[in-house]
Amino acid sequence: MRYIVISDIHSNAPALEAVLRDAPAFDAIICLGDIVGYGPDPNACVERVQDFDLTCISGNHDQGAVGQADVLIFNRDAREALSWTQRELTEANLGFLRGLSPSGVLDDDGRIVLAHGSPRDPVWEYIVDPSAATQNFRQFGFQLLLVGHSHLPLIFEWLYDQQRVQSLRPEPGVPVVLDGRRLILNPGSVGQPRDGNPQASYAMLDTEALTWTLHRTPYPVEITQERMRANGLPRRLIDRLEIGR
Ligand code: ZN
Repeated sequence: MRYIVISDIHSNAPALEAVLRDAPAFDAIICLGDIVGYGPDPNACVERVQDFDLTCISGNHDQGAVGQADVLIFNRDAREALSWTQRELTEANLGFLRGLSPSGVLDDDGRIVLAHGSPRDPVWEYIVDPSAATQNFRQFGFQLLLVGHSHLPLIFEWLYDQQRVQSLRPEPGVPVVLDGRRLILNPGSVGQPRDGNPQASYAMLDTEALTWTLHRTPYPVEITQERMRANGLPRRLIDRLEIGR
């Protein structure tokens, strides 16, 4: 199967559409959560991902939007955007988000595990350093762990012989060979990248060729920003889109 792996769309429909246009041919979508929050198009994004063969888990913002996570945990801007999102979402789309689990497995033997944050803390833990990666490698038996949440395209590999983690730098367009390796893979964020590159980020997972390939694609940031302004969403959330931070 050829999967497009997306995460942290954050209600940014222009970014999601750019990714769908840019992606090489794929059979299905894996979505690692945070479809909503921050951005101006929650309904469009929730509906669009369902046009495809979809495996989807929920993120902290999805849970905040449907009352499964306490909104007081979020910072002020995120909270403001979440209450707007709650008012905006249709009953059907609230129902879709409510039905999502915070983690899952892709294959029957549980070798490919999905979590928004991490397997031990599915919607809140950020795996952004070797120490958090090490703890999750040690605690769980996955071969591949796909995570989102940090909005950073990252790869951590478990080195069997040295019993330690190494960080790899994913290069857009350069396939990473998965065969036999234990890896934690983050495709970055579609709708709110935070690695200093404002382009939408996603990955392709090919379970036959056994490769993971990061992709970046530009999208009309100013259209998303304009829609955020029109809906009175927080200024800081609007400004950060163009710098990717
Ligand atoms: Zn997020």
